[in-house]
Amino acid sequence: MSIPDKSLLGLTFTELEAVLTADNVLTHHAKQLWRIVHRQATADPSQVALSPPLAKWVAGNIGAGKSHCIDLPEQAEEIHSSDGLTRKYLLRLTDGQVIETVLMEYEGRFTACVSSQAGCAMGCVFCATGQMGFVRHLTAGEIVAQVLHVRRALAASHPHRRLRNLVLMGMGEPLHNYDAVMKAMDIVSDPRGCAIGPARIAISTVGYVPNILRMAREKRPYRLAVSLHSSTEAERSALVPASKKWNLESLIAACRSYSRDTGKRIFFEWILIAGKNDSEDTARRLAILLDGIDSHVNLIPLNPTEGYDGHSSSSGLSFQNTLRELGIPCTFRQRRGIDVAAGCGMLKAARVKR
Ligand code: SF4
Repeated sequence: MSIPDKSLLGLTFTELEAVLTADNVLTHHAKQLWRIVHRQATADPSQVALSPPLAKWVAGNIGAGKSHCIDLPEQAEEIHSSDGLTRKYLLRLTDGQVIETVLMEYEGRFTACVSSQAGCAMGCVFCATGQMGFVRHLTAGEIVAQVLHVRRALAASHPHRRLRNLVLMGMGEPLHNYDAVMKAMDIVSDPRGCAIGPARIAISTVGYVPNILRMAREKRPYRLAVSLHSSTEAERSALVPASKKWNLESLIAACRSYSRDTGKRIFFEWILIAGKNDSEDTARRLAILLDGIDSHVNLIPLNPTEGYDGHSSSSGLSFQNTLRELGIPCTFRQRRGIDVAAGCGMLKAARVKR
């Protein structure tokens, strides 16, 4: 299920320009509107000084019952981690669904973690979003709106800092909502607007094989991160039910093909779970799987969720060393936002209506 996207935020610059020129509003006014909405992240363009033709178009076309809207989500809640490095925003969409967006600081650099769906259909057992099930896809405008929300918050607290990095690792499987996600990323990476460099945008998938191949075919400029978590089919299917549809063999084949066709490195995410996937033997099997793929493994200690009783591993260092000795670059992801349930696999909007 998805809802129609009348939002101005879901239009690329070319589409916005076409909408305005169809109403006899010249291109340079489209540039002004785009700059106001995306670069300055202005919540309500009717409140700023606009050229007369643009002011007239905005008054006649944006708002309730008109052809377009700027449906900014309402902030239901903002929670800060105790170390001050993570802020989690609960955002209520126009139909009442609540999603989560996270802003994280790493040594003075800011990264936003954005949701692509309300809930998720993939059902990974360790993930709070997976435990709640799928509600609906987000529109491109709703994905862009999260980026603009975070940019406004950052401008208020750190006026001289820019949002530089974006990860599609919030609620949802981004490649299950491919068209909206790719359109939203094209919008936020537009240098005339938010200007987040494509190489600083990571799209994370649990292994949606057809759309990994589509990303390569379409030469999408974004980084690909693949949540792997297991080196055998039986172990992976138990953690990631999507593996029953796109098994480990087909996923690794798709990654090999992506890596060969794009020449790009793939980031493999590995949530370390004590006694499940943290042994040196598992690391050796993983190295064999990744042989020949330009890869980097990110190790993530399991974060606690209510619906899964696995524990964080204490063998991460020996796992990492084994991989490194076998030539696979491997680092630990810095943990952020655990005390506010904003870490990997913890996102779940308690107020989501079904
Ligand atoms: S880990 Fe990602 S793909 Fe898996 S259930 Fe959670 S949100 Fe969905």
